[in-house]
Amino acid sequence: MSYVDEVLERVKAKNGAEPEFIQAVTEVLNSLRFVIEKNEDHFRKEALLERITEPERIVTFRVPWVDDNGQVQVNRGFRVQFNSAIGPYKGGLRLHPSVNQSIIKFLGFEQCFKNSLTGLPIGGGKGGSDFDPKGKSDREVMAFCQSFMNELYRHIGANVDVPAGDIGVGAREIGFLYGQYKRLTGLYEGILTGKGLTYGGSLARTEATGYGLVYITNEVLKANGKSFEGARVNISGSGNVAIYACQKAQSFGAKVQTMSDSNGYIYDPDGIDLAIVKEIKEGRRGRIKEYVAAKPTATYTEGRGVWSIPCDVALPCATQNELFLEDAKALVANGVWAVCEGANMPTTLEATEYLQENGIPFMPGKAANAGGVAVSALEMSQNSERLSWTFEEVDAKLHDIMVGIFEKASSAAERYGVPGNYVAGANIAGFEKICTAMEAQGIV
Ligand code: NDP
Repeated sequence: MSYVDEVLERVKAKNGAEPEFIQAVTEVLNSLRFVIEKNEDHFRKEALLERITEPERIVTFRVPWVDDNGQVQVNRGFRVQFNSAIGPYKGGLRLHPSVNQSIIKFLGFEQCFKNSLTGLPIGGGKGGSDFDPKGKSDREVMAFCQSFMNELYRHIGANVDVPAGDIGVGAREIGFLYGQYKRLTGLYEGILTGKGLTYGGSLARTEATGYGLVYITNEVLKANGKSFEGARVNISGSGNVAIYACQKAQSFGAKVQTMSDSNGYIYDPDGIDLAIVKEIKEGRRGRIKEYVAAKPTATYTEGRGVWSIPCDVALPCATQNELFLEDAKALVANGVWAVCEGANMPTTLEATEYLQENGIPFMPGKAANAGGVAVSALEMSQNSERLSWTFEEVDAKLHDIMVGIFEKASSAAERYGVPGNYVAGANIAGFEKICTAMEAQGIV
């Protein structure tokens, strides 16, 4: 049996109850075969795949807090410190009822490769809780965040582990978490990114993931003789990533036709009016269906279906496993030019394979959505030098980083004889740097 298959079997046996983690490891290890099989004995002797698939540390903790009725609630908190070979652990915190160890481990594992691809000195981690901020008052969210930080603070630090936002964690939550860290430790240091601009945040961090997604998609389109100008773009989600992907795609001349939330999706044949979406989502934390009240020519459909609307570019920006095989088939049948992932692992393995078999350029999330963590790392740099850069400076650096990621993924794919396979290219390029650093640091 090949070394990759041996490790895959072991990971499946040891983590049987963690389907998302197994899915992520399967995708990555399968695409690393090109590298491993060239030097299998060495990788096996050094147990590099076992080491890279085992988190350095997982912390699980109780998060008690009191709701507005005086009732005590208890949630479960997680921080997975996956790999610190190339820098302090870095990765967001997710607050969503679906959060469990499998989801946090899959996200932490992906984060290692993503962070490596940025070229910046950051290792991989991820955290969160099954707390649902939806429908909670600001006081309840603050009570939860303070309790969460009462445990998390002992595991993080500006040179140790620097969390950020993710689903359910935006400016409000980061503010509450930061305030509690400062109160507990008395330290004013960059232990979180995505901070507000008045207390150490970076300009362009809010926009970074969505903008970065569009910058790298633009490279994919150029490499395939296409452009955003006049292209029909379908976006899923209507959160941070989706909103700023929409904004940048529109500024490149695209027509964005769809957005969604976990209840349903809107289709606007005139092109999404982003001011309306921002007012609903950022202004009053409402539902996407409210869009049609302001724009009656658009339609709202309950449930899934964004990918059934014919488009040229598909940008899944909601959550994991939201683009299935049937969706990939519809996209291909409708002549899609490219699929680039704004969310983490939104495309199932079967759907990814189908897109690739049909020659659709596919940029995986670990490359396509790396703009967020890249600007987080730039926020860390600004905090260290106690300076703030302009929006234009940060945006220009973000643009260069995304073009660099595209080049790394496409040149690694070419080097290993699979040109245009950005999944393999991104995994290989990310893996090579981590592996070299791990080997240099010995068996630790
Ligand atoms: P937000 O919480 O701002 O938005 C998430 C969006 O996805 C919302 O519209 C939400 O709808 C929708 N959504 C969430 N869960 C589901 C579900 N189960 N089914 C359908 N829709 C769902 O999160 P972000 O925009 O920050 O994150 C989106 C994705 O991008 C995630 O995969 C995240 O890990 C990834 N990402 C984010 C980065 C960032 O900088 N923010 C960086 C890199 C990756 P609803 O309101 O109904 O829940």
